[in-house]
Amino acid sequence: MLRRISSHLNQASYCLRALEGFSTDATTLSSFSKEVPQFIAFVLGGPGSGKGTQCSKIVETYGFTHLSAGDLLRNEISCSSKNGSMILELIKEGKIVPSEVTVKLIQKAIRSGENHKYLIDGFPRTEENRLAYERIIGAPPNLVLFFDCPEEEMVKRVLNRNEGRVDDNEEIVKKRLQVFRELSLPVVDYYLKKGILHKINAVGTEDDIFEQVRTIFSVYEFDRFRDQVESNELQVE
Ligand code: UDP
Ligand code: MG
Repeated sequence: MLRRISSHLNQASYCLRALEGFSTDATTLSSFSKEVPQFIAFVLGGPGSGKGTQCSKIVETYGFTHLSAGDLLRNEISCSSKNGSMILELIKEGKIVPSEVTVKLIQKAIRSGENHKYLIDGFPRTEENRLAYERIIGAPPNLVLFFDCPEEEMVKRVLNRNEGRVDDNEEIVKKRLQVFRELSLPVVDYYLKKGILHKINAVGTEDDIFEQVRTIFSVYEFDRFRDQVESNELQVE
């Protein structure tokens, strides 16, 4: 029965993608997840671009589960997992943690979550991250948000936020911006070309910025997707 449910879930995923005007060719279908039929949105942007703040508003308004890749990694440090000290050394230097480690944490969080819509904040940060995600999870995201913010503004915000993070200091924020420019912007470009990235002007009040998010989200039918999944489950019960 599980297999049947999974096939119904895939069918529901496909229906949603078709509804949203995604390509319906064989490649898209075969690469779509057998494992993660949920609605996945990646949230990209440099350090201090407001990803976390806007994710909280999306959670409140649209009922997504927020998975911050940075928080998942910091959690590994604080619970002294086997990778904890390696992760700490990399974060302290503004470097990227090996893809496999981050993707496995994301996968675990999605598997143990009960929701059908997830925001993955601050990931993928490199093309290698992106490829590892697609390989391990088996599907691309449904949508990507990109918070576009000038570097001076990002530096100002990071240095003012006082969250006690080891990497929120002048020297490391410069390194993080360089990593963002060199390694993360190509990922932004990739999704732009795929036609699933929405660019948001990240300068303004929290509410102004959220209005842009609302406009983007208004065309996605997350709950129709859930309803499809539920009605298919009822049929196989
Ligand atoms: N990080 C990483 N891979 C990820 C996400 C984060 O290696 O997919 C590390 C990286 O060192 C980064 C740090 O965690 O500089 C903090 O990331 P976070 O997203 O919390 O920072 P933000 O960009 O929101 O300031
Ligand atoms: Mg953040």
